[in-house]
Amino acid sequence: MRLKNDETAMRNPETRLDRFDRVAPIHASDDEIARAVADAELPALLTALAVITGDESLLADELKPPSPSMTARIAPQGGLSAEAQAKARAAATRALIRYRDAGCPEPGEPSAQLLDRAVRFMIKSGHDECMDLLRHELNLPVDVGAPDWSVADFPAAAGIRVAVIGSGFAGITAAHRLRQAGLDFTVFEKNSEVGGVWWENTYPGCRLDTPNFAYSLSFAQKQDWQQHFSQQPEILKYILDVVDFTGIRPHIRCDAEVCKLAFDEARALWRVSSRNKAGQETEEDFHFVITAMGLLNRPSIPDFKGLESFKGRIIHSAAWQDDVPLEGQRVALIGTGASAFQIGPEIYRQVESLSVFQRNPPWMLPTPTYHDDLKPGMQWLLRHVPSYGRWFRFWQVWIGVEGRLHLVEVDPQWQHPVSVSEANETLRQECLRTLEAQFADRPDLLPQVTPSYPPGAKRMLRDNGTWPEMLKSDNVTLVTDGISHLSEHAIHTSDGREHPVDVIICATGFKAADFLYPLQITGTGGQDLHTHWDGDCRAYLGITVPGFPNFFMTSGPNTGVVVNGSAIFFSECQVEYVLRGIKYMLSHGHRAIDVQPGPYVDYNAWIDQGNTTKAWAVASVSSWYKNRAGRAAQTWPFGLLDYWNLTSGFDAAPYRFS
Ligand code: NAP
Repeated sequence: MRLKNDETAMRNPETRLDRFDRVAPIHASDDEIARAVADAELPALLTALAVITGDESLLADELKPPSPSMTARIAPQGGLSAEAQAKARAAATRALIRYRDAGCPEPGEPSAQLLDRAVRFMIKSGHDECMDLLRHELNLPVDVGAPDWSVADFPAAAGIRVAVIGSGFAGITAAHRLRQAGLDFTVFEKNSEVGGVWWENTYPGCRLDTPNFAYSLSFAQKQDWQQHFSQQPEILKYILDVVDFTGIRPHIRCDAEVCKLAFDEARALWRVSSRNKAGQETEEDFHFVITAMGLLNRPSIPDFKGLESFKGRIIHSAAWQDDVPLEGQRVALIGTGASAFQIGPEIYRQVESLSVFQRNPPWMLPTPTYHDDLKPGMQWLLRHVPSYGRWFRFWQVWIGVEGRLHLVEVDPQWQHPVSVSEANETLRQECLRTLEAQFADRPDLLPQVTPSYPPGAKRMLRDNGTWPEMLKSDNVTLVTDGISHLSEHAIHTSDGREHPVDVIICATGFKAADFLYPLQITGTGGQDLHTHWDGDCRAYLGITVPGFPNFFMTSGPNTGVVVNGSAIFFSECQVEYVLRGIKYMLSHGHRAIDVQPGPYVDYNAWIDQGNTTKAWAVASVSSWYKNRAGRAAQTWPFGLLDYWNLTSGFDAAPYRFS
């Protein structure tokens, strides 16, 4: 899509990352078009067609998706009735035929009014407060999130260096925006290739468990995702593609693990110590540090009694080793979280036996399309209708803005042994019905797979029936007694039973509470960040900590979205906020920015209060959401709009500058 008046894009032509909007011309027959439309996600298709053709009749009230609130399932086609769907399909087919007959003209810039109308057609009425967030996610004007300044605007910016630590989604977002601003930066990556968790996690069955289009960068929208929830290789390839076409590759130093950061107060510089593969340390000075080290990537292997005596192979899900034999082996899978849920169904047919060690059963979100390709007609439309992918992504983002947050809100008046509100109970009942249907032929398993905590208290997992199918297989045993110890060739449980195994797969999660571990970070007055936190990480906006000037975090404390939205949205908000902060400093001649203790304390009190109103706070079930003290230190308790509102500008008041 061409947007003629896009000032940012005109200033930085290389930042026009609209290549994912490019599509092929349509030569299909009327019937072929109608068949493709039969597979379409309609609200996004109507909107894309209205925007490219200017035909506003496609946005008629009778075709507007009512978007009923989400429970376990999302209403198909935005909740449109069968009759409205039929009308929508007919209208879309006619519009596409006209567009083909007109020679598939490349769409020009839609008027602001048409864009506004299109956005309002897709979202629920009365959500004006979301418009800026939605424009950002739509990425119209193209690259709307790009910095509105560059180093050339500030003589003091010459020579400023920024260290970015990590090259997953957050790190490449930071790199891209820094490059757009013309700042000098280096991305340190401990692994030998970019990609973060999507490079590290190569276990069998690894794939996304949030909707694919929304789990992508707003500034690099990909039109041709093939699946609803892509597999790891495709996501890694997307990241590599983004790295290449943003031109950030020359700034990335792989096999370079940052081990120490120390702030030099006199010079307002961070001394960054990194270690290469050979163990050699290098020290360099940077004016700013942005951590993009993720949250869920330091594997946690429980300290089982007798662990060292086990003679078979032990691997962690996130450190998969391809040479571990599975074929014909007796395998133990410890854990029933998101990783185990993907590994188990993928491997159980090839192993001799699979023992699944479960502490708490997860709640499952019924997701029939979890492993499916997008329907062929939908894929064809994405390849032929300009901006359809953009509007489909927008649709998924919009659904996440509200998401399932209302379903995990605690109602203090609600009296129930498990659920926390009427809406939470509705969700629980829906999930229970699915479980009962899935285990109707194995009633003995039902009590073991039924969670005793409210849905949403820990991460809900996607299932299309493969997990129950696996559990019911003759060679699979669900073990629910606790692990007491390991011996040379077996796992022993608290009921005194011995489970002989050759291979143990620990899908036991990550040291999420040890945020930024093992990086040593020394701020002003020689204070160590980990000592300051004492196992209870906190930050202002999840980004800054008092006493650690010019130090910014992405995926920081209390920024994990667990029932709505994606981590990518948060990283983009954080990076753009940091760039605005740097601009503020440059324009005021400051060298250092440090959040003040007062706003930091107040902000965290507000966050804690928010978390106490969510299912995860009242439930005693274990999860990575909480730290050792039981405080929810990872979760963002509010909506996406709340975080957007906090970070979409830059208020200098909470900071002191020098
Ligand atoms: P996790 O959710 O923390 O699950 C760890 C599992 O190990 C839990 O079932 C836990 O039991 C169990 N466990 C831990 N210690 C144990 C012990 N000593 N004995 C027995 N069982 C033990 O870890 P994860 O599955 O790796 O997922 C972590 C997060 O990463 C997810 O929530 C998600 O956000 C992300 N993730 C995403 C994807 C994706 O997008 N595709 C895939 C994987 C992971 P309890 O439940 O009793 O604590």
